[in-house]
Amino acid sequence: MEKKVRVRFAPSPTGGLHLGGVRTALFNYLFAKKHNGTFVLRVEDTDQTRFVAGAEEYIVSCLAWCGIHPDESPQLGGEFEPYRQSERKSTYKQYADQLIADGFAYYAFDTPEELDAKRKEIPNFLYGLASRMSMRNSLTLSEEEVDALLKNNTPHVVRIKMPADEQVSFVDMIRGLVTFETNLVDDKVLLKADGMPTYHLAVVADDRAMQISHIFRGEEWLPSAPVHILLWKYLGWEDEMPNWAHLPLILKPDGNGKLSKRDGDRLGFPVYAQNWTDPKTGDMTKGFKELGFMPEAFVNLLTMLGWNDGTDQELFSLPELIEKFSVERISKAGAKFDFEKAKWYNHEWIKKTDAVDLLNTVKQEFAAKNIDLADDNFTMKVISLIKDRCNLLTDFVAQGAYFFNAPAEYDLPAVKSKWTEEKAAFFNAYIPMLEDGVPALELEERFKILATEHNLKPGELMLPFRIMMVGGKFGPGVFDIAVTLGADNTKNRILAALIAFA
Ligand code: GLU
Repeated sequence: MEKKVRVRFAPSPTGGLHLGGVRTALFNYLFAKKHNGTFVLRVEDTDQTRFVAGAEEYIVSCLAWCGIHPDESPQLGGEFEPYRQSERKSTYKQYADQLIADGFAYYAFDTPEELDAKRKEIPNFLYGLASRMSMRNSLTLSEEEVDALLKNNTPHVVRIKMPADEQVSFVDMIRGLVTFETNLVDDKVLLKADGMPTYHLAVVADDRAMQISHIFRGEEWLPSAPVHILLWKYLGWEDEMPNWAHLPLILKPDGNGKLSKRDGDRLGFPVYAQNWTDPKTGDMTKGFKELGFMPEAFVNLLTMLGWNDGTDQELFSLPELIEKFSVERISKAGAKFDFEKAKWYNHEWIKKTDAVDLLNTVKQEFAAKNIDLADDNFTMKVISLIKDRCNLLTDFVAQGAYFFNAPAEYDLPAVKSKWTEEKAAFFNAYIPMLEDGVPALELEERFKILATEHNLKPGELMLPFRIMMVGGKFGPGVFDIAVTLGADNTKNRILAALIAFA
C-alpha cells in the first residue's frame, strides 16, 4: 500500500524566520498538497537556552501571511498532539534507555569543564570513536561506578555510540545515493543533562510518532542524516523510515556561502519574512512583508530559488505551484539570492493583480502615512492607474498620494525658468475645456488644438501641466490623471499652480 503523505515543517523558535526557512516550509507544503497529504507544523523547542518568547507565534503568523496553512499544529492540535517538543518531553527518555540497553548508546559523565579542557588540548576534538575510551562514560567506568553515579543523580548525558568502520547510505530524493563514513561522525548527545532530548533524538522519535513520510529540510542538516538513519535502525524502525530531501542552500548574492541575516544587513535587503523584534534587545529587523512584498510574490520567488517547471515560466500562483511541483525539478546546486530579481517578481505580481484585490493592502499603506482616502471606487481607479509603476506595495503612497491631496509643493526649478505669460494665458483658456465625462484622449486633443491656437508647442506645456497636477515629474499619463481627478479638482490645481508659478 502507498504510504500516506505526511510532511512536517519543524522550526526551532529561536528568532526571526529566515527566507530559507520559509522555502523549506513551502516545499514541504507544496509536496503535501500535490499528493493530497498532510502538512504538520511541529515546534522544536527542546533547546531551552535558545528559546525566544514570541518566536512561535511569529512563525505561525509568517506562514499564514504566505498562505501556508498547517493541517496539524500546536495551535490546531491533531491526531498526534502535542506538537511542541517541550510538551512531549516524557516520551523521549524511553528511547534513550532502549538504545543504552541495546548497546547503541551510553551514559557520559564528563563535566563541561572536562570537555573544555579536552577541546583546548586537542584541536578539533570530536567525542567519538577515537576519544570515547579516554572519557568518563559507561564504556570506560565499571558497572558499579556507573550505578553509583546515576543513583547520586550525577549530571550526565546520553550519547549515541557511532559504529566503527561502517558506511551509512541513503537515497536522497534530490541528491541520489549519499554515503557517510561512520568513523568521521561524532557520538552526538541524544539526551541532555536536563532530561531534554537533543534535536537528534527528538526529531527521529517525533517523525516516527507523527508518521512522517517525507522530509524536506535544508542542506545544513545533511551531516546529521547518518545519525538519524542509525537511530531509525537502532530503534527498530527501519521499515518506517521516511524519504529525505535536503534542499539546496540559498546563497549570498556576492560570493559563496549561505545567505545570512548579516548579508541582508550589509547589502540592504531583508532576509526575514516579517518584521522581527528581538524581545531581549528590542532591536527590530525588517521583513519582506513590511517592506512591501506581496505574499504571492514572496512565495513565487522563494520557490524559484531551487526549482523550476522545466519551461521559461517564472510567475506561478500558489495553486499553480501545487499543481506543477515535482521533486525531480529541484536542483542540487545552491541558488544565489538576488534582491533586484525579488523586486521584479513583486512588480510583476502587483501588475497582474486586479485593483480590487490590492485595495485593502493599499488602503493600509495610506493609512499608515495618515493619508485619508476618498471612496473605494476612486482609490481603485488610482490603483489601476499607478500599479504598473510600483515595485513594492509601499510605493503606492509615493506614486499615488497626489490623487488624494493637491501638491503642497511644486518642482519649481523644472518650470520656472521657462514660464511665460503666454503659458499662463494658455492654462486659463484651457480651464473651461475641462469637463467631467470627457475621456483622456479628447482632453489631450483639446489641449493640443488650444496650444496651436496660442502659438505654443504642446510639448512645452505638458511638463508644467504635470507639475500642476502631481507636484513633480512623475506619474502616469497626465490626461489620465486629470480624468481621474475630475474637472473641478483639475481646475483648482491649475489655478493654485498659476499663482505658485507666477
Ligand atoms: N528544528 C530543525 C530546524 O530548526 C529542523 C530540522 C529538520 O527539519 O530536521 O531547522
